[in-house]
Amino acid sequence: MQVQPGTARPGDAVLITVRGVDSAHEPQGRLGGFELDFHPFPGGWQALVGLPVETTDGSLELSVRAVAEAQELDLQGTLEVIPPGFRSSELKVSKKFTSPSKKQRDWSRRDQAAFDAAFGQERSARLFTANFGWPRNDDVTAPFGDLRMFNGKKKSQHFGVDLNGDTGDEAFASNDGKVVLQRECFGSGNTVVIFHGLGLYTAYFHLSRFDVKAGQKVKKGQRIGLIGKTGRVTGPHLHWGAKIGGRWVDALSVLGLDFQ
Ligand SMILES: [Zn+2]
Repeated sequence: MQVQPGTARPGDAVLITVRGVDSAHEPQGRLGGFELDFHPFPGGWQALVGLPVETTDGSLELSVRAVAEAQELDLQGTLEVIPPGFRSSELKVSKKFTSPSKKQRDWSRRDQAAFDAAFGQERSARLFTANFGWPRNDDVTAPFGDLRMFNGKKKSQHFGVDLNGDTGDEAFASNDGKVVLQRECFGSGNTVVIFHGLGLYTAYFHLSRFDVKAGQKVKKGQRIGLIGKTGRVTGPHLHWGAKIGGRWVDALSVLGLDFQ
């Protein structure tokens, strides 16, 4: 049994890989309080877990039951979780951003329903073979987990990775998958969400142009659109998100996983 990463932070994606066991018996297991959802891949079985940002540091117990040569195997391990070191900063937003109108609130509600439907895909084995790649090669301007304070109170947390870019720069699919959302949203602007199987989605916000449609299959490195500043943002950039089991995780942690 292999666990990645070796040491995790809250908000990380964790990949558990089991090899050399029976391909007809789906392994069952838990990591801390989370049930593992194993899917087959050519080398065995894999499960992905998104650690909540609230996870406290310490050891998480990992236990997996699998079958090999008609014998039940009990596999045990631990995962060390270290403090995340999320940054905290005071938000400076203009007045129009602090109090959306009724029309904007209704728009947001419809967006939420569209997101819920997109993130409700049927269970699927992974739709990709290669490891994940950057959606563009540029600097990270705001990492995952930044705490945004407003008037001294926690206003929100940044559940994506912001990548530098100008309007018109290209954005690419970080892996093979299926487009499950292509929508003009109030907050996230022109938004694309890709389902990759294994419970994993990636999201691309604030685009100025779409190059893909919902329902379309995409390949790693395929252009999905152009960078923009649509939605509730002050300047052009690509907000890149990753979601596992209903929780946003640090997309950079997904980049670090070896799925081979
Ligand atoms: Zn962002």
